[in-house]
Amino acid sequence: MKIRLLLLAMVVLTGAAGAAMPGSALAKPQVTAARIGETPERTRFVLELSEDLPYRVFTLPDPFRVVLDLPEVDWSLPGDRQPRARGLISDLRFGLFAPGTSRVVLDVKRPVHLQKVFVIPPRDGKPHRLVIDVEEVSRERYFAAQSQETGEASVSDRPLKPLAEAVPPLPPVKPADARPTVVIDPGHGGVDPGAVGVSGSHEKNLTLDYGKALKAALEATGRYRVVMTRERDVFLKLRERIRLAQEAEGELFISLHANVHSSGKIRGASIYTLSETASDKEAAALAAAENAADVLAGVDLTDQTGDVRNILIDLAQRETMNLSKKFANDLVREVGREAKLLRNTHRFAGFAVLKSPVVPSILFEIGYMSNRQEERLLRSKAHRDKIVASIIRAIDDYFEKQKAASRS
Ligand SMILES: [Zn+2]
Repeated sequence: MKIRLLLLAMVVLTGAAGAAMPGSALAKPQVTAARIGETPERTRFVLELSEDLPYRVFTLPDPFRVVLDLPEVDWSLPGDRQPRARGLISDLRFGLFAPGTSRVVLDVKRPVHLQKVFVIPPRDGKPHRLVIDVEEVSRERYFAAQSQETGEASVSDRPLKPLAEAVPPLPPVKPADARPTVVIDPGHGGVDPGAVGVSGSHEKNLTLDYGKALKAALEATGRYRVVMTRERDVFLKLRERIRLAQEAEGELFISLHANVHSSGKIRGASIYTLSETASDKEAAALAAAENAADVLAGVDLTDQTGDVRNILIDLAQRETMNLSKKFANDLVREVGREAKLLRNTHRFAGFAVLKSPVVPSILFEIGYMSNRQEERLLRSKAHRDKIVASIIRAIDDYFEKQKAASRS
């Protein structure tokens, strides 16, 4: 009988978090390597760290995930190799989850429990190594352990400071400011990269670039107060985005995204508004993908029933939805002057982020990052400027019509 013992396959995970901000990286602790190993008994995740850090590890069900939180760390690993799934781990993401907290999310194929979590101090030229061993358990055992509160969470001796909610401070509302407030929502961020383009670019960076450019251009008109849901590479829950828009008393909410399609040939911009029933299968699939942002970032959704997960639309939302559709029509017309549009450009589906009952909201998929030509175009400043200008024309037109309607 052949004995296959402890054939520990190691995968080096590098560079997937993108480059750190120059200057700011120096002060932060560093992740110097990340590996996944596999034995018949367990799957091991190892993170090499420049210093001993407090940590918190826990599991989440449905879908099953293992989450590791650390203080804000610098992920700029050398090389550009993408991590490869192995053993029980089917996928892995890392990035900023909230200001001050970096997060690693390990998607697991089956329910697991934390067999061991420990730190190996520096030795033999190796730095601090944080080791997470997980083993498969039955669904029944997983939930039994959870209900007994036996501590699926594993923490270091030193407490990791509590999670700050990823909510940027809002600019104070000026009562004298009669200008309409436009809320710009760059999709995804931090531990949730969004779609990945043909060249490896991340949707979260593209949406932030467009968001910042739109904010600057809108402010330059002097006609609007502008609030952004995020201004850096940080994760933000869908419900936080909605809450921010409402607290800012936004009169228009624009969520910026970019798309991928299994066919590299598909290209064009598209605009979405909220609906219980989707206009078509593709819109429904897109909404499902965009709504998965919280799951991807390792958010516990078990207490969110009836909240953003529920797309049922109430009566108060009808008027808001009508306004959203009007703006969507203006935007389709203006973007169509500058860029290729997807056929049936204005579509609808159950996008959780558009669910505010009071703020007219649209989701703008600027284009397809899976189309080589369009991805290059999306990243060019010339195209960004054109798109930004078209959004501003649509906003101007929308508010002009609103004003006229309130006068008549
Ligand atoms: Zn998106």
